[in-house]
Amino acid sequence: MKLVFLGTSSMVPTKSRNHTSMILFYKDQGIMVDCGEGTQKQLRKANISPTKITKLLITHWHGDHILGIPGLIQSLGANQYSKTLEIYGPKGTREFFQNMRKSFYFPLRINLKITEIEKGVFFKNNDFQLESMPMNHDVPCVAYSFREKDKLKINTEYTRQFGLEQHPLLGKLQKGKDITYKGNKIRVQDATIGKKGEKITFILDTSNCSNALKLAKNSDLLVAEATWEHNRKEKEDHDYKHLSAREAAQLAKISGSKKLILTHFSQRYKTTDGILKEAKKIFQNTTAAKDLMAVEV
Ligand SMILES: [Zn+2]
Ligand SMILES: [Zn+2]
Repeated sequence: MKLVFLGTSSMVPTKSRNHTSMILFYKDQGIMVDCGEGTQKQLRKANISPTKITKLLITHWHGDHILGIPGLIQSLGANQYSKTLEIYGPKGTREFFQNMRKSFYFPLRINLKITEIEKGVFFKNNDFQLESMPMNHDVPCVAYSFREKDKLKINTEYTRQFGLEQHPLLGKLQKGKDITYKGNKIRVQDATIGKKGEKITFILDTSNCSNALKLAKNSDLLVAEATWEHNRKEKEDHDYKHLSAREAAQLAKISGSKKLILTHFSQRYKTTDGILKEAKKIFQNTTAAKDLMAVEV
């Protein structure tokens, strides 16, 4: 699994930081979270073909998270994108999308499916599920988590004792069913090792809220906004609708997450050293994202 940060800035981009977007690659899936202005260019720089995108998860309709969408969709049309782009977003997403289409000549050359989501699991297949929770921002906003299914791995040392190697029956064991081979009963609990699926949570614009904590619970990786250092937050974020580095770190700690990556930084910060230092005081395993940074999960 690979996560690539395409943009790590908040409202205003800087020379080194583009607007918010990231993309998670898992098997045949390219799951993009937000698509700020200039995301297409960032994809180019990261050598990622936009046609790899299968799902677009929108946290909310503030410009820094969505202004790249029309351009991206037009490029997909020009690239003979043959999949159906699945777009998920909070209440109002369908209407915002239609309004955007009406505001200029926008030929829709790809298939897409828009789903408005709020709370709970909204996508599930044999490998993973996606869940959302409403956040507390000044417009409808959701956060997302990706949860890989727990898997059973064959304990080959054990199964070999029965001469059982590369056999279709192994598939049955992996599905959690006991089997009988050459008269021997082979039980799942002896012949397999449980492998816990990875959980990645993406929390963008929000104040500190209980839903953020619920969604982030036991994440292997928590990606969270840290727009300000805490002292600045009190001066500049009058409505307190963003997380500071300190709050993001507290969230990682209390939720029992293993690793924290911060993003969505204010243009005020030339470097993220102060933000990182503040977060690390509370949660040591923290990294500040950089544009085009790729992380193996
Ligand atoms: Zn934002
Ligand atoms: Zn916002």
